[in-house]
Amino acid sequence: MIPPIARRFVAGESVPEALDHARARNDDGVAVILNLLGEHYDDPAAARADVDAYLALIDDIAASGLDACVSVKPSQIGLDISADLFEEHYREIVSRAHERDAFVWCDMEDAETTDDTLDAFESIATEYPWSVGQCLQSNLKRTHDDLERLVDVPGFVRLVKGAYDEPKSIAYTDKARVNEAYREDIEFLFERRDRGVAVGSHDPEMISLANRLGSTHDTDYEIQLLMGVREDAQRDLARQGVDVKQYAPYGEKWLSYFYRRVRERKENVLFALRAVVGR
Ligand code: FAD
Repeated sequence: MIPPIARRFVAGESVPEALDHARARNDDGVAVILNLLGEHYDDPAAARADVDAYLALIDDIAASGLDACVSVKPSQIGLDISADLFEEHYREIVSRAHERDAFVWCDMEDAETTDDTLDAFESIATEYPWSVGQCLQSNLKRTHDDLERLVDVPGFVRLVKGAYDEPKSIAYTDKARVNEAYREDIEFLFERRDRGVAVGSHDPEMISLANRLGSTHDTDYEIQLLMGVREDAQRDLARQGVDVKQYAPYGEKWLSYFYRRVRERKENVLFALRAVVGR
């Protein structure tokens, strides 16, 4: 069982719990992106098991009528085994979503995976237009060129600051410089796209920038935040009519995800502790 302190960040261990979580968020006007926890499989059977779990989850979401979609990790569906296996699994999941009128996001992992991930995304989005979205990281110096490359591809783009420690040769490592790149990339997306823009950030400044640009450029966009982080803001934005999606992980491998949230921000534990003791 997941202890209450971690339950703030994880939607449960099972699919029914994850779907219940999505239903509760939908009642607040917030859509949900479900991620089955798991990554870095070097055993093809483990990758296959998670692909099957996503296919079943897509069927369940479609049958439930919930405002929910899924997000997969490249190394969860085979990228540590081979780029071909990853692309085959990625295509299979998006194809099922396309059939069910559902949607698939793909997370972005460390910079060694960027080329394979974007190549697969470009090909799959072209085959299944607007059924898939790809995360890109503004801390990478290459990202502006990647956005140019993808600007006319019929897939969504989730822009984030980037969660992986990368070498200075390929990434901005100074927080202010990352923020500057993030602002520039957000502006680029709103100027050049009229749909398919997602801003994945808890940063009030970046969320305000997106809201401002969304109205000046008439671009369809969404704001994505993690479960357990600024949930009041998630509800407030949804009430204001902003398209808000909450990324909610679930599954048995919750412990390392919880530690990551804690390492990123000590306040996360304090918030969670306060929720547990009821103050
Ligand atoms: P930060 O720069 O961390 O913080 C800026 C400000 O935001 C803070 O000063 C504070 O005001 C507010 N804030 C931030 N965190 C909190 C908090 N816990 N509580 C209260 N306020 C807070 N990274 C990847 O590399 N690949 C991915 O696929 C990926 N997917 C993501 C999907 C989603 C939906 C989200 C939200 C993030 C994802 N990330 C991913 C992580 C991302 O790259 C950042 O590491 C992470 O979001 C932290 O950056 P930030 O923009 O939220 O704000």
